[in-house]
Amino acid sequence: MAIFFCLKCWREIAENQTVCQICGADKAKLSEQSLLAKLIRSLRHRKPETPIRAAYVLGKLKAVEAVTDLIEIASSSPDPYIRATAIEALGNIRGARVQQFVKSLWYTSLTVIGKKMPPTKQQNTFASIELIQ
Ligand SMILES: [Zn+2]
Repeated sequence: MAIFFCLKCWREIAENQTVCQICGADKAKLSEQSLLAKLIRSLRHRKPETPIRAAYVLGKLKAVEAVTDLIEIASSSPDPYIRATAIEALGNIRGARVQQFVKSLWYTSLTVIGKKMPPTKQQNTFASIELIQ
C-alpha cells in the first residue's frame, strides 16, 4: 500500500484527503507547483532517504534556487548523511555563496560523517574545493 505525504509539512495523509489536517495545505494546489519547489521542500522530509535524494537531484540540476535551503540543511541537519549530501550538492552548484559557506566550515569545524576531521584533512578538503571553484 502506498503512503501519501502532505507536500508542505510532510506528515502522512490519506490518499483521498484533499486538505492536510495538520497544516491546512491544499493537495491539488501544491501538486501544481514546480518540481524545483517540491525538491526544495523535500529537503525537510521526515524520512531521511527523501532529503538525501532531493539534495542529490538538486545538485545534479545545479539548482541555484536551492542554495539557501541546502546551506541550512548542510549546517543544521542532525543526520550526518543528509549534511554530507547537501554539501556535495552545494559543491555541484558552486557560486559565491557556496564558496563563502565552505569557508565558514573551514573557520569553524567540518563535521561531516559523525566525527571531526583532523586539521590537515580539513585543509586538504578546503584546498580541493577551492580548486574546483
Ligand atoms: Zn501538511
